[in-house]
Amino acid sequence: MNASNTAQVVGACPHDCPDTCSLVTTVVDGVAVRVAGNPEHAHTGGVLCAKVSKYAERTHHPERLLHPLKRVGPKGSGQFRRVSWDEALDDIAARLKAIAARDPQAILPYSYAGTMGLVQGESMAARLFHRLGASLLDRTICSSAGGEGLTHTLGGKVGMQVQFFAESRLILIWGSNSIGSNLHFWRLAQEAKRNGARLVCIDPRRSETAEKCHEHIALLPGTDAALALALMHELITHDWLDHGYLEQHTLGWDGLRERALQWPPERAAAVCGVPVEQIRQLARDYGETAKRGEPVAIRLNYGMQRARGGGNAVRAVACLPALVGAWRHRAGGVLLSSSGSYPVRRARLQRPDLLGAQRPRVVNMTTIGDDLLRDASPAFGPRIEAVVVYNSNPVAVAPDSSRVVQGFAREDLFTVVLEHFQTDTADHADYVLPATTQLEHWDIHGSYGHTDVLLNRPAIAPLGEARTNTDVFRALAERLGFDDPCFQDNDEALCRQAFEGVIDFDTLLARGYATLDIPDAPFAQGGFPTPSGRCECFSAALAAQGLDGLPDHLPNFEAPGSDPRHPLAMISPPARNFLNSSFVNVTSLRDIEREPVLEMHAGDAAPRGIADGDLVRVFNDRGEYHCTARVGDRARPGVVNGLGIWWRKFGVRGTNVNQLTSQRLTDLGRAPTFYDCLVEVHKA
Ligand code: SF4
Repeated sequence: MNASNTAQVVGACPHDCPDTCSLVTTVVDGVAVRVAGNPEHAHTGGVLCAKVSKYAERTHHPERLLHPLKRVGPKGSGQFRRVSWDEALDDIAARLKAIAARDPQAILPYSYAGTMGLVQGESMAARLFHRLGASLLDRTICSSAGGEGLTHTLGGKVGMQVQFFAESRLILIWGSNSIGSNLHFWRLAQEAKRNGARLVCIDPRRSETAEKCHEHIALLPGTDAALALALMHELITHDWLDHGYLEQHTLGWDGLRERALQWPPERAAAVCGVPVEQIRQLARDYGETAKRGEPVAIRLNYGMQRARGGGNAVRAVACLPALVGAWRHRAGGVLLSSSGSYPVRRARLQRPDLLGAQRPRVVNMTTIGDDLLRDASPAFGPRIEAVVVYNSNPVAVAPDSSRVVQGFAREDLFTVVLEHFQTDTADHADYVLPATTQLEHWDIHGSYGHTDVLLNRPAIAPLGEARTNTDVFRALAERLGFDDPCFQDNDEALCRQAFEGVIDFDTLLARGYATLDIPDAPFAQGGFPTPSGRCECFSAALAAQGLDGLPDHLPNFEAPGSDPRHPLAMISPPARNFLNSSFVNVTSLRDIEREPVLEMHAGDAAPRGIADGDLVRVFNDRGEYHCTARVGDRARPGVVNGLGIWWRKFGVRGTNVNQLTSQRLTDLGRAPTFYDCLVEVHKA
């Protein structure tokens, strides 16, 4: 190897994961040969997950899209011919221009967290669609129920700093398979465990994380608020409360106290489907540890907010630390997301001012299935005529996928997809445009699991004819005749704008990351960023919307036991080697997962004549999904786990688990209810 042709480039992991690792890519002769964790970056600690360790394989994958493609077969057939960029962009611009002349709201941008980068995510794209006056997208598909719940309680997506979990004495890992999706937190939890901390996992599934904790509370999906209220009941009745903290730093405690007293552990045990003693013991552990002055911490994750009452559940859990004064310690409190800690200059990046006087409608990405099939109406506005998809794969990941497929199969819908690979969504495109990966472009990142800013430098030149998202939207802006100077900003300039005046860009250039200046124990003296400055057990803002101002347990739309035809509750957590629908096409990772599976408890499998390894048909009124039964102790009785998210084309009979999930929305945040889903299972 000639050392002069070898370089190491510092970047950032772009994936939808709270860890936001710092990457070091080794490049030899223009080829990325290795992607490793940056040992200099404390949160990364030189370690990456198995998925992103394969990022060089993913980037140089033989199936990377390297040229623009134009559809030549029927919608969804995946038949395309290669075209030049000019041909593609000229035609796309002409089609969008014609639609915009009738009503720009008939154009819908559809994007999510295929990259978490602020530049290749929503910068130039948002500028273009704002300038056009296209429909706005309500980006709800993952975290908005919990985000809104947290905001109405703590004032924003804020919480304790992740590194201090290592000093906690009791950690509740709630709704999270940390080993699979928050690996660097898990390392801290392990450190705490070595120092004598107790780890409790609260999750319907006996995940890899659950089996390594001291205790696993396998509650029924969508019953987390009932458990939190029962814990409060016990904290009150045993007086494990921090009265001083409650008095000075909470709002509405008296009302919440009254509500919690309606939730004795027996009531919660019946709702949650767990032994009453387990609830009592958890409350005792939490209350007594805190009472001794030791730090108690909760690592909440988004799994538990994917049911009807998800927003309320997050509110209930987020109140717990205030009851025992856990915030007084830097190793106490709760962390769901730290993303609200970042002073991102979003308006600077996305330029909503380009809307001028236009006030486009907002389309919820969760209901894309129904919305693509809706006719024009005064309530909805114009029929959707064009969709531009980037950083997302809705045909695989959006709920109720029969409807989503039907919508994207509309011959009269003009669909453009910017992608790395020929995904299920790309199969339905009129144009597929090859996008750069993280190794080929500039970007800048915050995180939702720590509080560092990371810069991503390109390590290699774009492969084939791949172009950055920003470049594509710049080129479209030019063809649409938009000459605002902001469409000339290059990607490095956009990176500088993201945290201008807050983070020293030279530090980022030199080191690749910089840390926000946040107090170790941000709410030790209250000072929550809520309207009252307190932890809001009662939210006047919610009450003003006609909602309950206090958190409560809201039973699932599809509550276990409520439908004899579909007696099993289903959740669909990610398979360990996939990240949403990313990495499903990386052969070495798919080989580990082997096939789409449904985890079942033996007590549910046996009466149905289902044995481990059988092909099964999982169904409800929305559709049916075919996969292999894995019978064992990962699933609790009454609940099946359909691990996701397989691309439909890699699934059995072209199906994936979202055939079964519904488009109904959560109590707060207008989010999907993926884990609020009843099914029946038969041997296929
Ligand atoms: S997916 Fe998460 S754990 Fe894996 S490299 Fe990216 S940020 Fe790190």
